[in-house]
Amino acid sequence: MADVVTRFAPSPTGHLHIGGARTAIFSWLLARHFGGRFHLRIEDTDLLRSKKEYTDSILASMRWLGLDWDDDLTYQTERTDLYNSYVDKLLESGHAYWCSCTPEEVEAMRERAREKGLKPRYDGHCRELGLGPGEGRCVRLKAPHTGKIVFDDMVKGRIAVDASELDDMVLRRADGMPTYNMAVVVDDHEMGVTHVIRGDDHVSNTPRQILIYEALGLPVPRFGHVPMILGPDRQKLSKRHGARAVVEYQQDGLLPQALVSYLARLGWSHGDQELFSMEELIRFFDGKNLNPAAAAFDPAKLEWCNARFMRDLPLNQLVELVEPFAKAAGLWERLGNDPYGRLEPLCVMFRERASNLAALAESFRPLLVGASELVYNTKDANKHFTEQGKAHLAALAAIFSKVEPFDAGAIEAALNAYVADNGLKFKEVAPPLRTALMGFMGGSHLNEIMAFLGKPETLARLARAQDYTPPAAEQDA
Ligand code: GLU
Ligand code: ZN
Repeated sequence: MADVVTRFAPSPTGHLHIGGARTAIFSWLLARHFGGRFHLRIEDTDLLRSKKEYTDSILASMRWLGLDWDDDLTYQTERTDLYNSYVDKLLESGHAYWCSCTPEEVEAMRERAREKGLKPRYDGHCRELGLGPGEGRCVRLKAPHTGKIVFDDMVKGRIAVDASELDDMVLRRADGMPTYNMAVVVDDHEMGVTHVIRGDDHVSNTPRQILIYEALGLPVPRFGHVPMILGPDRQKLSKRHGARAVVEYQQDGLLPQALVSYLARLGWSHGDQELFSMEELIRFFDGKNLNPAAAAFDPAKLEWCNARFMRDLPLNQLVELVEPFAKAAGLWERLGNDPYGRLEPLCVMFRERASNLAALAESFRPLLVGASELVYNTKDANKHFTEQGKAHLAALAAIFSKVEPFDAGAIEAALNAYVADNGLKFKEVAPPLRTALMGFMGGSHLNEIMAFLGKPETLARLARAQDYTPPAAEQDA
């Protein structure tokens, strides 16, 4: 397909949310798949609700997701004259006319239609009056009232609307400002947009926009209206479902490629593949296989997806990415004078157990505090620091004190020998040891944990655990 041009047209009235992000991803992928262009247009005509900070935030989220755009940004507020020049063209060609009806008169027409059980609409009062410009006058499209407006939606298939359903819509308001549909048609045409992918909350605008294209004698782009993302309960998606702004996922330490892969899969499919690299998405996404049924957002699946991407990331990249999170968690100073050298084994130990970078950084904490600062999970400590458990810890401390060099292999051999020589089971020895080292029944391979801690710190932890007495108030917590 030659010259595919798509766009994303957010209104800067809030941060970029996952619904908008998915629309942007689809538009971007279609352009990149066909080697075309992707534009970003800021629809900032709602002066009360649009804010520069939201534009900045949306742009930052787009960059973070890896959705680059071609050419400069377009701001609708800077293009009023351009839109009006197209309204003038329609007036000159007889496809539009001036209307002097007041808002009260139009409301009365709507009321009369409602009373007759018809759709509320403008009744065409000024259509043939041949009025010129004047105070308080708007410009309306001289819309055809017969026939059908038909388009083949990339998502929903063929959509046909009776022209009689639509009234002569306003193109330029009495205050001289172009209307939304007018602006969008001019923008999409001027940008050379060939494929409009947007949320299906806009599907009722599309027949109106098609009428404007036709009146202007312009080619009509293809449209694809993607259904809303629903919550897991199939109700309107909200914060309560764990849905957040893209920037919030970023702050949690989600990987952008995981969010892109998850969102792309939400409403689009390629066989039964679940995870996609950016390269794969670009290769496979051709605008087909878009699901007309609304997809449900599943926070657990997004987490799973992110964990998988974290697992597969090259270690040096993971270290780089986790750095700001380790800093934010106040752990950086605890990494000593070779912080990156310390982060590597930590990432190796914990990367498969964390669902995001913030959680990954936090999982390092037990290994970075001193033995005396280690926080015990009371339940685990009470359960495993029994007389028997403490006896194992004492015996192990004596053995480990002689292990040299104190590396993962030698530690493992010593631990296995202790278990085998005494006819024990690993699961009798490991829980008290794990709780002594981590403070709770979690973490990674025991030998790797001890090798990371080093001998003195390992022995200090085993000693502290042997002195454990259950806190009085929480004995059966
Ligand atoms: N600004 C509109 C929105 O944020 C998008 C309109 C369009 O894509 O045509 O919903
Ligand atoms: Zn009128």
